[in-house]
Amino acid sequence: MNVTHLECAKCGAGYEANRIHNLCTACGKPLLVRYDLKRVSETLRREDLPGRTPTLWRYREALPVERPENMLSLGEGWTPLTHTPSLGAALGLSRLFIKDESVNATGSFKARGLCMAVSMAKELGVRKLAIPSAGNAAGALAAYAARAGLEAHIFMPRDTPAANRIECEMTGAYVTLIDGLITDCGAEVARRKQAEGWFDVSTLKEPYRIEGKKTMGYELAEQLQWQLPDAILYPTGGGTGLIGMWKAFDEMQAMGWTGSARPKMFSIQAAGCAPIVRAFENGWDEAPEFENAHTVASGLRVPRAIGDFIMLDILRRSRGGALAVSDAEMIAAAREIGAREGIFAAPEGAACLPALRRLIGEGAVKPDDRVVIFNTGAGAKYLEAYS
Ligand SMILES: *Cc1c(COP(=O)(O)O)cnc(C)c1O
Ligand SMILES: [Zn+2]
Repeated sequence: MNVTHLECAKCGAGYEANRIHNLCTACGKPLLVRYDLKRVSETLRREDLPGRTPTLWRYREALPVERPENMLSLGEGWTPLTHTPSLGAALGLSRLFIKDESVNATGSFKARGLCMAVSMAKELGVRKLAIPSAGNAAGALAAYAARAGLEAHIFMPRDTPAANRIECEMTGAYVTLIDGLITDCGAEVARRKQAEGWFDVSTLKEPYRIEGKKTMGYELAEQLQWQLPDAILYPTGGGTGLIGMWKAFDEMQAMGWTGSARPKMFSIQAAGCAPIVRAFENGWDEAPEFENAHTVASGLRVPRAIGDFIMLDILRRSRGGALAVSDAEMIAAAREIGAREGIFAAPEGAACLPALRRLIGEGAVKPDDRVVIFNTGAGAKYLEAYS
């Protein structure tokens, strides 16, 4: 058992491991899982990794699930970090990579977070899970819940892409469509969860999705021979990936796997829903709700994120930033990425390309920088947006 305790990201309050937790009961903010990293590094050595399973479970000593029978797997993580020379040449970058998360089970990187959350729910004896989701999180929850034999109760906006809704129905989830946004779906889960006995696996409202998402940081380091990139562009909704990767960088440094250098972290959002961009530009520590949120990039349609203060801190400490991209730019960028590199990106992932062009124009990214952009999902799930 390498988990020592859980810790509130805001007030530092400590919580016992191996108990069911949602938010900090003192201040209402997200909890982070803490490990005895000395012990992790004694049992998991960098050199042992190449022979391990090609899933995120290759880092299992740095993950919270204890018993092997609870480590659910459908093929999550260890995704390709693809060098993209044609796209790089078009931008004037020699070392541009796409971390292609579209190849995860259920077609997006949500598989990482929900794989971990459902595995832990199973380990802790939870029977019924509930989630508000505007897209890929729902499908991932449904799939892993089916694997675990647990109930999945899913609340999605009525205009969620058909692929997301149908995959949930086909993997045995209970799906409710809501006339509203993901925040309205979240309110519905909150209103009913007590009476229904549901465990709420909303973004950052339980501590383990971050642990799944942090494996992107471990993988990047391993795939780049333990030299972190100079810049990372990450399409940001709730922010689990951003927060998770930063946590991974801290953990790896504490274990002596990587140094103190950190990539510049850039959050990419949709112009129609850019609460983090607005807060970053205004120098705010928190990001108030973004009114009338709209974008075809359903994963970015998160008007209010509970981990806002953590994200803004990371963006500033890494000397990165936040940029907003229009839906039309995303669609054009998906076509360019697809035609140049053969990767059919989700609009969320495609949003990184116009943002990167702007950063290069401003001099924030240099021609010889090692740059990673995240394609967070499969384009094939967004046929309405692309046809
Ligand atoms: C959920 C989602 C995002 C945003 O991820 P967060 O970790 O919540 O910031 C980006 N892209 C896709 C395809 C998503 O499904
Ligand atoms: Zn707290």
